[in-house]
Parts: sequence; structure tokens; C-alpha cells
Amino acid sequence: MNKLVYSFNEGKAAMKDLLGGKGANLAEMSNIGLPVPPGFTISTKACNMYYEKGQEIWSELLNEIFEKLSELENKTNKKFGDKNNPLLVSVRSGAKFSMPGMMDTILNLGLNNDTVEAIHKITGNERFAYDSYRRFIQMFGDVVMSIEKYKFDSVLESVKEAKKAKYDTDLDAEALKEVVLKYKSLYKNEIRSEFPEEPKEQLVLAVEAVFRSWNNERAKIYRKINGIPDDLGTAVNVQSMVFGNMGDDSGTGVAFTRNPATGEKKLFGEFLINAQGEDVVAGIRTPQSIEKLKEVMPEIYDQFVQAADLLENHYKDMQDIEFTIEKGKLYMLQTRNGKRTAFSAVRAAVEMVEEGKISKEEAIMRIEPSQLDQLLHPTFEENALKAAKSIAKGLPASPGAASGKIYFTAEAAVEASKKGEKVILVRQETSPEDIEGMIEAQGILTARGGMTSHAAVVARGMGKCCVAGCEAIKVYEENKKFIIDGKAYVEGEYISIDGGTGNVYEGIIKTHEPEMSGHFGKLMEWADEVRKLKVRTNADTPKDAAQAVKFGAEGIGLCRTEHMFFDEARIPAVREMIIADNIEQRKAALEKILPMQREDFIGIFEAMGDRPVTIRLLDPPLHEFLPHDDGDIIDLANEMKVEHEKLKARVEELKEFNPMLGHRGCRLAITYPEIAEMQTRAIIEAAIQVKKEKGIDVKPEIMVPLVGDVKELAFLKEVATKLADELINDSGIDLKYMYGTMIEVPRATLVADEIAKDAEFFSFGTNDLTQMTYGFSRDDAGKFIKDYMDKKIFDKDPFQAIDRKGVGKLMKMAVELGRKERPNIKLGICGEHGGEPTSVEFCHDIGLDYVSCSPYRVPIARLSAAQAAIKG
Ligand code: ADP
Ligand code: MG
Ligand code: MG
Repeated sequence: MNKLVYSFNEGKAAMKDLLGGKGANLAEMSNIGLPVPPGFTISTKACNMYYEKGQEIWSELLNEIFEKLSELENKTNKKFGDKNNPLLVSVRSGAKFSMPGMMDTILNLGLNNDTVEAIHKITGNERFAYDSYRRFIQMFGDVVMSIEKYKFDSVLESVKEAKKAKYDTDLDAEALKEVVLKYKSLYKNEIRSEFPEEPKEQLVLAVEAVFRSWNNERAKIYRKINGIPDDLGTAVNVQSMVFGNMGDDSGTGVAFTRNPATGEKKLFGEFLINAQGEDVVAGIRTPQSIEKLKEVMPEIYDQFVQAADLLENHYKDMQDIEFTIEKGKLYMLQTRNGKRTAFSAVRAAVEMVEEGKISKEEAIMRIEPSQLDQLLHPTFEENALKAAKSIAKGLPASPGAASGKIYFTAEAAVEASKKGEKVILVRQETSPEDIEGMIEAQGILTARGGMTSHAAVVARGMGKCCVAGCEAIKVYEENKKFIIDGKAYVEGEYISIDGGTGNVYEGIIKTHEPEMSGHFGKLMEWADEVRKLKVRTNADTPKDAAQAVKFGAEGIGLCRTEHMFFDEARIPAVREMIIADNIEQRKAALEKILPMQREDFIGIFEAMGDRPVTIRLLDPPLHEFLPHDDGDIIDLANEMKVEHEKLKARVEELKEFNPMLGHRGCRLAITYPEIAEMQTRAIIEAAIQVKKEKGIDVKPEIMVPLVGDVKELAFLKEVATKLADELINDSGIDLKYMYGTMIEVPRATLVADEIAKDAEFFSFGTNDLTQMTYGFSRDDAGKFIKDYMDKKIFDKDPFQAIDRKGVGKLMKMAVELGRKERPNIKLGICGEHGGEPTSVEFCHDIGLDYVSCSPYRVPIARLSAAQAAIKG
């Protein structure tokens, strides 16, 4: 049977697809015995058919609607259009997901010149009758017929003025009758036909208007932003009216069962006496806190508390409830799961477990992992933010909120920070040379670059807020200013940025620091109990490592050694090594770097204790360590006491057409094995020292980048393990280390069985793997991936969420081949994807041992891993 209309007793909460969220919950509330005014729901299926039929209402649908209408008449003992006892209804839109932009609710439908008098007689309240009538004409005219609302408002205002009335409530019945007459002539002028007096005609027009609103611009944009499919359609709820505006024993309100900002278990809400519909939200009068209801209507308050408890227990989640009181009787008009902050979500979930309402697993599933970001970074104070002036919007590259003075170079930022100033580093885009400035800055703002640009990745790694790719600003680094819309902002001026939204503001905005609250800690403990994946961190410094351990990291999955090379104290020796003419000179330079690298690793091993630490051998192309413009080359040549020409020639020599695919990764170590040797020595000597002196059971793992052929790995294994074994032998202590590889070149996934012969572990470098599988340059892809998303070629940016079909297939194959060759091979991921919830789930599904991500994403990965395990 092709049923299209359901009365509330025929539905239930699980039927959201068909009845929409509001309709399904109205049905559920009716069926669990709560006082819900009766009604029926015209299904989303009817809405979709309406579109299939070219936006025409058809007779079968009308018959079904009128059939349900007469059932409703019987149930309420009232009749549509009846001159003695008329039925009035509300018409309410309601899609599967609550969607601002859909048609507003119409109240009091069924009123006309006859029924308004009937209402007057029944209630003995003429003022109420005409107040309801004028509201209905206005809503119908505005919402169904699109007459601009201000036109009604100005009519109302003119009558108020003539009567010297301050509030709507000061108008008496006579005045309201006048408003009704004027509204009707306004209607006739605008629409060129009389206001429809026939209730059934009113109803059909309203239903059609709801259907049409599914495709209005606001609704379409909202769906696009929130990834809601366009073909769901909306349902229409037709419900008998109850009146909150019948006097001081009536009212209307909205309440949450727990505080949506903090999660505290206490009713949170507002109500208005003698008011109808959305008066509470519309701010016509200032509503009172729900606690006040206890004083004014103690019995109703108790009933409401009971109903709220019942609903929360029934849905096992925080509810957001709309209610109306008619002449001392409570009615429930809507319930849904309440929208809440991360703080509130975590606290409510944990406390519901403690109250025995939900299981730990349910609590874990209830938190959106990416929401945890809010708990880990400072945020702007709400009121301060409201007062702030937003000047531009970029990409929300790394969450957090910061205010500071603008500086345009790393050096200026460092200098200002040393003077105790708070700094926002503003750059066209950042590069590895800016690291120190980034470390010192409170936040980073760039005009170019995407979500995986240098600024974004590094800032996320540091847990520092960053707005990237803010194209509205024009940065003039040399003139120390940037310009937005013709206005200049100069060095030393204050701005504020919110890396969670991408917003940029003028001036200082107050922030508050994150607290690792008890509830958060508890939720994480529960997550750890169920997850199968281990969670490691990407960290290059003892400070980051220690931070990550605080957030629960169980090891380091990626320690990049090149970041250490940029340090002011070492870059001279690194450059010396690069321009060396022969192996002796190179070795001499490496000798200088060795003790410094060893110190780095000692610090990291100490911070990580007996947790495993994967250290990657040098990866970037060498040109990154040298300046590129002539002036800088001359300065450096003078500093290094070498000839300009020689340095310039070396810079030229290192230039590559495509450095991403050039002389980098293991290819460097194959040309210059002495670099790998020095790094291996630094790692193993540091491990020996920490183990000897501190008694820590250090677990170093040496990782070779960019391997595509097992022979590359075998060649370097010979170099590294020979040296390592020698050192360990000589030390006289027992030290275990592992030797393994990144899997990031597509070829490596194809021959992973061969590679596994020489690798004790694989770590998927999904940034490079995605770049090389798609053939997208990661540094340039930002420019066009947006178009791919807009044109629905991609749902998600593959640099953010693993492309399961392609890149994921390669990973899966590598996992299978690797395990076949070496059953106990250790498998992990260290690309940026390691902290992204859907990618973590994928890593669980293909059976990796661990994911590794930046320190601030560790809690997100822990929760995501637990959710993946629960989903099974
Ligand atoms: P929204 O989706 O914008 O929340 P609703 O359909 O919930 O719109 O309607 C808004 C308000 O209108 C409700 O909160 C309630 O106060 C009022 N309302 C809706 N239907 C009725 C009804 N049958 N009787 C009384 N008031 C109603
Ligand atoms: Mg609304
Ligand atoms: Mg509502």
C-alpha cells in the first residue's frame, strides 16, 4: 500500500526517514503517554512525489489528508470551519535532520470570520480570539504567500501608535479587529485575491508551501554546507492547536534536560506567560528562567520535570523540549536530542553512564571525536567574541584562539616575543625557515596555502592556532603591513584569530585556557579499554613528546630529523656538509652535527621512557637548507667564508624541476651513505647512553623514507645495521632496535612482500602516498581540490581523509603482502591522516597496529580508535 499520511499513533521515533525528526518524535511522545495535542504527519515520500509530479498536489494525497483530518476531528470533537466548535491546527515542517531554512510554522490555521467568533464565544475571550486571528493572517501571508513581513509589522505599529500602546499585549479586542481588517486588505493588495476563508484551502496551500520550502535557497545552501542529501524531502506535521496565549494561566517555553554549555544535570530553559509559539525565541518580551515556573505554577513545573525525565530516560540522551501550557494544562510540542558544546557532550555522556542510563560504549559513540578539539585549545570568551569585529575569513587550519601583535617575519616575531609581546605571525605562506617564529607566535595567519600547507601542518603539530589561505588579505611583508578591503594593518597592531572557524578579528579578544576536566579523563580511560589500535604521536622535540604523553600517546610514530637541522646552532654545519667537495669534508661537517643529533635523541628517549620511538632518516631535498635569492647567497657565502660563485653553483646544482619527486628520502642516503651513518650513530649512541645512565628500556626504531624497491632498503640496511650492531656490541649492554621503512611510494605497496624481507615494520606515509597515487602535488592541490568538492567530484579532500578506494586499496594490499612475508611485522601510519576519525577507522579495519598523529590529535585518535572497535 502506498500510505502517505500517518497519524501520530501510527508512527515512532525510528521512522525519521519517513516522518522527519519532528514527526517521528511527536509520534513517539504520544505513544509513551505524554500529553501531545493529536495530529498527523504527511510523509517525506509525499514530498518527493510532489516534486516527481512537477510540483502538483494530486487527488489521492488530498483524500488521504482529508481522511486523517476527519479522524482528527473525531478525536478532538471539533470540526474544521465549524461555527460552534472549530478545529484549529498548526502546520509544521520537519525534515529528517533539523534544518534552519525550512518553512516556518503556521499557527491557528482554520481561523476565518466565522470561526474567530466561535473561539470568542467558547473562550469568552474576544481579545484572545482576534489576537490569534491576526497572528494567523500574518503568518499565512508571510510564510505561505511570501508577503514581506515588515509590511505586516508596519500595519501593527501604526495601530499601536494610534492607540498609544507600548506592547502588543496592550491592544484590546477592538484594536485587534482593526488590525485583522487592515491585514486582510494588505493581503488583497499584495496577492490580488481575497484571503482564503475556507480552512481546507488554507491547509492545502500551507502543505504545498512546506513542500516548496524544501528547495528554497536557504535550505539548499544549508544542506550543501552540512552534507545533507537533496533527495530526502521534508515531512509536514498537522497538529491540533493548544493555546499558550489564553491568559496568565497559560504560557509557552523551551527547555533542555541538561545544560547544553556545561553539561550540568539541571533543567535549563526559559518560558513566557501568556504567549504563543516562538515568542520565547523571538525576543518580543524577555522570557523568564525555567526555575521561575516552579514559583508561578508549581504543579505544572513538577509535571514538566517528570516529563523531561521520562523523555531523557526514554531517549537516553539530553533532550531539547518545547512545551505549551493552556489554562493550567501542560502539553509537549517537540523533543529532540539537544545540540551541545564539547564540554557539555562529554560531561553529560560520562554522567549518564554513572547514572546507569547508558553503557560506556554508548558514551564513547556519542562524542564526535573532532569535537574534542574544543577541549584542547584555548577559546575566545563568548561575550568578548560577540563584541569583536570580524575582518576576514580563511581556512580553519589549526584550532585554538589567539590575540597578539602582527609581525611579518620570523625574526621580528622572535624579537618581539623575547620582549614579552604576544605575537601573531602573518605571512604570505610559511616555510621551514619560519619555524622559530612560529614557535614564538601565539598564532599564525597566512594568505596562501591549504589545510595541509606548511603553516597548517606545523601549527597543528605544535597545537598552535592557525588560519591559513586567508585570501582576502594582501600581505606586504617588506612593507610590514597587510591590507583587507583597502584598510591597512601594520606591524605592532593587534589582531585575533580563531583557528577553529578561520575568522580573523580586529584587536584583542579575551580567551580562556582549556581544562582537562575529570569527565574528559574518564571518557578517555573508557576509550582505552576498548580500542585495539595503539596511538602514537608525531613529535620532533622532547617538549612535544612530553605533551603527547600527557595526552596519552603510547610512542612516537614519526620523529622527523630534518626539523632539528634548521636550528640556528646547527644549520651552519648542515650547510657545510651540503657544499662539501668531497667525502672527507662532508664527514668532517657531519662530525660536528653528530653530538647535537645525539643530544636531540637523548632528550626524546628520556621523554618517552620505555615507549617505542620511530626515527626517520633525513627526508627533504638538500636545497631546502640553502638560501635562494642572490643577496642571501652572498650573505651566507661571507658568513661561511666560501666564494660566492662556489655557493651559487652548488645552489644551482641542487635546483630540481620537481623536488617532491627528486633527490630526497632514501635517495639522499644512497648518494651519501655517511649521512645515514651519522644519524644511525646518533640514535644508537643516544639509546645506549640513556639505557646505561637512566636504566630506561629504550626502544628505538630506525625508519627509512621513500623506499620503492627492496634493494634501496637492503643497501641502507647494510650501512645502518652493521654500524648499530657494532656499537651495541661494544657497549656491552643489551639493546634492541628495529629497522623498517615508510610505505609512501606506490611501488612499495605493490612489492610490499619483497620489502618486508628487509623491514621489521611498515609505516604508511599517507601524505606522499596520496600525492603520488593521485599524481596531485600536495603543495599545489589546494588550488583545485576546492573545485573538486564544489563540483562533487570529491566528497572529502583526500589529503584529509584517506581515499579508501584507491590509496586505501594500496594500503590494504601492502598490509596483506607484508604480513604474508613476515607475520609479526609491525604496521602503522604516520601521515596526517593518522589523527582524522574516518581514517583512523579505516586503519582499524585493515588491521594496522597503531596510528600516529600530532600531539593535540592524540585524544581524538584514541576516541576514534575506540569507536572503530565498537563498530566492529
Ligand atoms: P521549529 O521547527 O522552528 O522549532 P515548530 O514546528 O517547533 O518550529 O513550531 C514553533 C513553535 O510553534 C513551537 O515551539 C510551539 O511553541 C508552537 N506550536 C507549534 N505547533 C503548535 C500547536 N499545535 N499548538 C500550540 N503551539 C504550537
Ligand atoms: Mg522555525
Ligand atoms: Mg520547534
